[in-house]
Amino acid sequence: MTAQTDGTYDLVILGAGSGGYACALRARQLGLTVALVEEDKVGGTCLHRGCIPTKALLHSAEIAEAARHGSRLGLRTSFDGVDVASLHAYKDKVVGQLFKGLTGLVRQSGAEVVEGRGRLVDASTVEVGEGGDARRLVGRTVVLATGSAPRTLPGIEIGPRVMTSDEVLRIEEIPGRVAVLGGGVIGVELASVMAGLGAQVTVVEALDRLVAAEEPSISKVVERTFKKRGITALTGARVAGVDTTGSGATVRLESGDPIEVDLVIVAVGRGPRSEGIGLEEAGVATERGFVTTDERLRTSVEGVRAVGDLVPGLQLAHRGFGHGIFVAEDVAGLSPAPVLDVQIPRVTYCDPEIASVGMTAEQAHAAGHEVESVQYPLGGNGRSIIRGTTGSITVVREQDGPVLGVHMVGIGVSELVGEAQLMVGWEAHPEEVASLVHAHPTQGEALGEAAMLAAGRPLHAHA
Ligand code: NAD
Repeated sequence: MTAQTDGTYDLVILGAGSGGYACALRARQLGLTVALVEEDKVGGTCLHRGCIPTKALLHSAEIAEAARHGSRLGLRTSFDGVDVASLHAYKDKVVGQLFKGLTGLVRQSGAEVVEGRGRLVDASTVEVGEGGDARRLVGRTVVLATGSAPRTLPGIEIGPRVMTSDEVLRIEEIPGRVAVLGGGVIGVELASVMAGLGAQVTVVEALDRLVAAEEPSISKVVERTFKKRGITALTGARVAGVDTTGSGATVRLESGDPIEVDLVIVAVGRGPRSEGIGLEEAGVATERGFVTTDERLRTSVEGVRAVGDLVPGLQLAHRGFGHGIFVAEDVAGLSPAPVLDVQIPRVTYCDPEIASVGMTAEQAHAAGHEVESVQYPLGGNGRSIIRGTTGSITVVREQDGPVLGVHMVGIGVSELVGEAQLMVGWEAHPEEVASLVHAHPTQGEALGEAAMLAAGRPLHAHA
């Protein structure tokens, strides 16, 4: 039986995660009609399995860490263990509050949420559901926003002893020993969570440093701090396989001794969720499963756009927001500026935090810039010393020109990325930033000091 055509919309959006719902909300503000198709919950990975719940767990882990080390601050505190049920209740409350707010926003927007699994039938039609109950939605533009999912390694099965970031969010007890496979963003964040909550953690990373996408000195600080926190980082170590028993798991490496643990967390990257959504049938071009687009997020099929993690590049919720808003505005004829990955801030919430935006010195040099780079140590910043963090802020500038990149590591630097991105996005010269008085004593002051250093007029630093 063929599905009934149900209605025609300006936009039919497949997936209500960060990219999809942002597109829907902005499109409704601009007076476009919208059908938003979702098989699970509005909010997607970020709200239900990613950014929000993991950062709630990280917050608990940070407090546990602080309780352990109260004596450093003259406090008699101790850490007596984790009440796992309450830990989940706290995390779920945070997610629930945001979910309630988001559901209300989407409802008020007037976007029609269509529940079910959708797939592209042709360039303008999305079919939702199966058989006689299927609905056909026709869009003048169809937006693909199905996101990404955790990858595993060949031969490694997910189960009670081997989890991805999805399953870890429902963990029933804090394991004694954990191996984290992959020392990228998710790997170092979950290593921080587990270590903070009391597990003995080993991170196994195939490349020669942790967080290899970041500026090399950042990896050094993270590796040094992890060591101090008792986290073992095995770099240059490739995983060959995992064997599980009822009570534990053994991680086999391509070379070196196997690692015996109670739990393995697989964090070796996320892949696009592009199977079974009709891409081949509709002729949408893909590359390794990702949907390829031009700068205006147009796919190879006219009238079909793609946003967020499905599009090759940074896999970040806020890139999804940016893409979604861009597509809504472009379809509405506002001619917005394309979203450029190089201007998107990146934050990794391990302990110590990492926050960066723009190019590293090496990348800027490779892109043909005459580069100058300065580094301001957080050891010269009062607030950072009070918070007990080491770390640094690196400012990369074009010689006699604008800031091209800012790269920060240390407790608290995530909240400094807003100013750093304005510097890069507005092509500020360090001299301009240096002339703005920064509040004392803040960690933001360290960014001002780094700009002063880059401008050749340091205050609390040697030129
Ligand atoms: P990633 O690409 O950041 O890191 C995966 C790591 O696994 C790499 O360093 C890789 O070298 C390593 N690896 C792969 N195969 C291996 C093997 N056989 N043995 C040992 N190491 C191996 O991927 P991720 O950490 O899974 O994160 C996925 C995506 O999600 C990233 O794009 C990330 O930016 C995004 N994310 C962002 C945030 C955030 O913004 N805070 C949080 C979570 C995830």
